[in-house]
Amino acid sequence: MSAGRFAPSPSGDLHVGNLRTALVAWLCARRSGRDFLLRVEDLDRVREGAEQRQLDDLVTLGLDWDGPVVRQSERARLYDAALASLAGRGLVFECFCTRREIHDAPSAPHGPPGSYPGTCRDLTDVEREVRRRERPAALRLRARTDSFAIEDALHGTYEGPVDDLVLRRGDGAIAYNLAVVVDDAQQGVDQVVRGDDLLSSAPRQAYLATLLAATPPTYVHVPLALNAGGQRLAKRDGAVTLADLAERGIEAFGLIAASLGLTGATPADLLAVFDVTRIPREPWVFVPPA
Ligand code: GLU
Repeated sequence: MSAGRFAPSPSGDLHVGNLRTALVAWLCARRSGRDFLLRVEDLDRVREGAEQRQLDDLVTLGLDWDGPVVRQSERARLYDAALASLAGRGLVFECFCTRREIHDAPSAPHGPPGSYPGTCRDLTDVEREVRRRERPAALRLRARTDSFAIEDALHGTYEGPVDDLVLRRGDGAIAYNLAVVVDDAQQGVDQVVRGDDLLSSAPRQAYLATLLAATPPTYVHVPLALNAGGQRLAKRDGAVTLADLAERGIEAFGLIAASLGLTGATPADLLAVFDVTRIPREPWVFVPPA
């Protein structure tokens, strides 16, 4: 199977920038004859009622998807199995560092600033015993490379850093980077379309996919929507959701299509002319109506 997907976190309402990315993801999938899947990334940051409002907004926009909505909160067994498989091959280690300790330590020789300095990578059994009494360990990947290249329809070949990323946090929660890779592999997702704030995470995710015997997907990292001040668009910027805009008599679909250089009243209208390589490379500056 070959599929694309949209994978929102139900932490609040989708704004026009998120909806625009969802539309591009749908167009990329449908245009290439792929299935389009919807996955709710609800491992943390869940706001009551947000999931249903997000799904309703996607339907209002005219998007459809194949199969049932998948929720990460219902897939713990898959993540645990992936962790066990990595651990069985010596690719996981316990890490006891606090954020502050990582921040204060000198960076790893090849890593970008702030990347994990390798503090707990080679603890002895005795050292680990001592530290286990201090706090619960996070589990990190024992990465065997410090960079990896991905293919992106808008960014070309993009090479970026890979570090010993967290797979399971100290509080036991599965890390987003592990869940997203396991899910995409298990769901047959071979095309990942999402906001370009995640471009720098793609190399480590693609590398992790190879360790789980999956072929990394091809990527489309879509420029974000910004407010008039050049910051990432957010709810506090005013009328940015479908409901806010509808209240002001504004039909969001046309605005979103226009921001992609397209005209039409429904997603299907855009399909015939859609070419992802021609969408604007700059962020979309959205000034909400008063
Ligand atoms: N759940 C992530 C978000 O809403 C997106 C993850 C992804 O598309 O890989 O930012």
